[in-house]
Amino acid sequence: MRLRIAAGNWKMNTSLQEGIELAKAIQAFVSEFPLDKHKRIVLGVPFTHIVSIVNLVDYKKISVAAQNCARWEKGAYTGEISAEMIRSSGAHYIIIGHSERRQYFNETNEELKTKVELCLKNSLRPIFCVGEKLDEREQNKHFEVVQKQLTESLFHLDVEHFSHVLIAYEPVWAIGTGKNASPEQAQEMHMFIRKLIAEKYGASAANDTSILYGGSCNAQNAASLFAQPDIDGGLVGGASLKANDFIEIIKAL
Ligand code: PEP
Repeated sequence: MRLRIAAGNWKMNTSLQEGIELAKAIQAFVSEFPLDKHKRIVLGVPFTHIVSIVNLVDYKKISVAAQNCARWEKGAYTGEISAEMIRSSGAHYIIIGHSERRQYFNETNEELKTKVELCLKNSLRPIFCVGEKLDEREQNKHFEVVQKQLTESLFHLDVEHFSHVLIAYEPVWAIGTGKNASPEQAQEMHMFIRKLIAEKYGASAANDTSILYGGSCNAQNAASLFAQPDIDGGLVGGASLKANDFIEIIKAL
């Protein structure tokens, strides 16, 4: 089923206590808010927060996501956290291939392919991030860049495994800059992504895939972005750290 999702990416923000307070505020709102069964809230929290937040939210409406996992299954990789550990902590989703990880940790399409496989093996749904940098858009290479990211990290999956994947289109120039893609720019790319999925996996798989927009999505612009036919919600950074702003984004779903 194609879900509409408001996903927060808290990044490396909030102490455990602050994270709990934020999750409690969102939970308090959601407990009074009727959420259709095809809508879902996902909180992408630091590893240290997963268990506590899983235990305080209503799992029927709110799922917890990690923001990364190790590229190995287990073993002597001091400091790393495996997909299996994340799943056993109660998370159901995982943000994979965020542009900050591609940039600061040199994550490649090949490495992300492995991470996607580890997520699926451990029943975690990857929210797989794609998106072009500013110079790539200026050179009109944005479609090519996104196609390569999808092809090299996801399109080896069979249709059953692919059905568990969500995609987040996050133009790098829009992340944390306050400059979001216009609804038309975002829709154009989302439609392109859905077309690629249809070519690879068929129309029904494409129709069932949730494609989220990320990049300076906020309480003011969420409704116009989410009104686009191929935008199924948002992956939200800065605005997910303020309960009231994130609640407005949930209402816009
Ligand atoms: C993100 O980091 O995924 C993101 C979209 O950040 P922001 O909303 O702050 O641009």
